[in-house]
Amino acid sequence: MTTMDVANSDRESAAALDRADGLRRFRDRFVFADDGVVYLDGNSLGRAPRDTVVQLVDVVESVWGSRLIRAWSEGWMDLPLRIGDRLGTSLLGAAPGQVAVADSTTVCLYKLASAALAARPGRTEIVTDRDNFPTDRYVLESLAGDRGLTIRWIESDPARGPEPDEVAAVTGSRTALVSFSHVAYRSAFVLDMQAITRLAHDAGALTLWDLCHSAGAMPVELDANEVDLAVGCTYKYLNGGPGAPAFLYVRAEHQRELRQPIWGWLGRREAFEMGDGYERAEGITAMLSGTPPILGLTAAGVGIELVIEAGIAAIREKGIALTEFAIALADGWLAPLGVSVASPRDSSRRGAHVALAHPAARTLCARLIRDGVVVDFRAPDVVRIGLSPLSTSFTDVWDGLDRLRGLLEEEA
Ligand SMILES: *Cc1c(COP(=O)(O)O)cnc(C)c1O
Repeated sequence: MTTMDVANSDRESAAALDRADGLRRFRDRFVFADDGVVYLDGNSLGRAPRDTVVQLVDVVESVWGSRLIRAWSEGWMDLPLRIGDRLGTSLLGAAPGQVAVADSTTVCLYKLASAALAARPGRTEIVTDRDNFPTDRYVLESLAGDRGLTIRWIESDPARGPEPDEVAAVTGSRTALVSFSHVAYRSAFVLDMQAITRLAHDAGALTLWDLCHSAGAMPVELDANEVDLAVGCTYKYLNGGPGAPAFLYVRAEHQRELRQPIWGWLGRREAFEMGDGYERAEGITAMLSGTPPILGLTAAGVGIELVIEAGIAAIREKGIALTEFAIALADGWLAPLGVSVASPRDSSRRGAHVALAHPAARTLCARLIRDGVVVDFRAPDVVRIGLSPLSTSFTDVWDGLDRLRGLLEEEA
């Protein structure tokens, strides 16, 4: 369909796209309140899988309730690495033993960035971009401040992210660490992970990728791209639930060398010996610190299994179809009303959300939410719509953008 066809289409044409959608049955695997809400924010908090309700009741009643502390040695203690391996091998292109589910994204970033800087003594610079997610910027600023390092900020076009040549221009013999989000949280721009990782390595630096907006939305190839370190959350496209633990990836060849700064008992060799002094555990276990959050891990595991069941290739395909549909509607309906698409038009360079720029974005977002269309405002001028492929329908996109069109027409 061309943009004109889409713009002239009625709601029935969106319903027809839904009927033809191979992932359609997965929508029924999520909890839907009967409130008519159009949810276009699954990239901030994914919907609740129905299985999560069952699994959480089970883990509280049958496991915590009856096995009590015995449950730690009956499987709970293994969950961070077991779920990490499922996530890594099925969705992140990571061989077993390199991914653990733990902490928050922020804490994982801190641990891995700190470990990377310690592994490049004498180098004085960190490369990242001004438009990186706030927590990433703050964590890097904190580490740079403590160590007297300089951050080389890349200022790129806000509708895109840094391209390899922009990274190359500030990366060299002084660079210790190059760190970016794989998919930009505002524009959905997909960075060239392979080229940027390669050029960082050519300069002798390590790379740390934040996968919050790509994990569960598109295939990620950490091993094949020779990524050193990565982190991400499980509560966006992986539907792990509010505050579900994050994940971290440390490439196998770095695991002996890298030391993370939060020396907790559960990252120690023979933790239950409770011995003197910290001696790091073998492998990825050394990246852990304290007691795993079992309820959050259980929910994260359910969300991850649902994504694995649907298949990341099919999810990516639908994410592209949903964002193409949204962009066609935006071009046809909203562009004449002053909205511009602030996400890449090349679908291979775009994640599963779309940024729509308008000077009144802040009030438009507030009104949309009041009217039951849940979107995100992103400063200064973006209405961000997240199109979580397993739970968002083409009709949701149609309804949400139709409501936005109505608001803009009332204004005009
Ligand atoms: C959502 C998000 C985070 C969130 O960090 P938390 O510690 O989980 O709050 C971090 N980085 C990016 C790129 C994100 O999109």
